[in-house]
Amino acid sequence: MPNFDFICHECRVTFEELVPFLPDSRSLPCPRCHQPASMVWLRSPGMKPDPYWSGVYDPGLGATINSNAHKRALLAERGLMEMPAREFTRRAEEAPVSPEPEFLKTEEERREFRETAEKTWNDIKYGNVEVPKLKTVDDIVDAPPAGA
Ligand SMILES: [Zn+2]
Repeated sequence: MPNFDFICHECRVTFEELVPFLPDSRSLPCPRCHQPASMVWLRSPGMKPDPYWSGVYDPGLGATINSNAHKRALLAERGLMEMPAREFTRRAEEAPVSPEPEFLKTEEERREFRETAEKTWNDIKYGNVEVPKLKTVDDIVDAPPAGA
């Protein structure tokens, strides 16, 4: 099993974990705050030339990677860039944090707001809810006129 990198959604800590190549391994509890942490692509897990080695399945990329050149080509194709763990952590720490909305007066209200926002975002991200399709200009132009 390769070492994969994870980042916590809540406290932003990054950590490595030995996990099998399974979709369920993409999320683990954070060792610091126990909130969900997601697998991230930071570097190749154990890239070594080996004639008997057929590659590593990367769940983030959804592909089996068999060389550094193959990995670079896949990343470029998808508009992604590889980032060392230290750089990833630095950027996560420096990322701007949204201020708490002023209408939330108590800690209880702020906690409830954060939990609802996080649940909503996760539902959208993991496809648990259907996001309504926005109307485009074509939808409006092709629609028959009202009363026709
Ligand atoms: Zn955490």
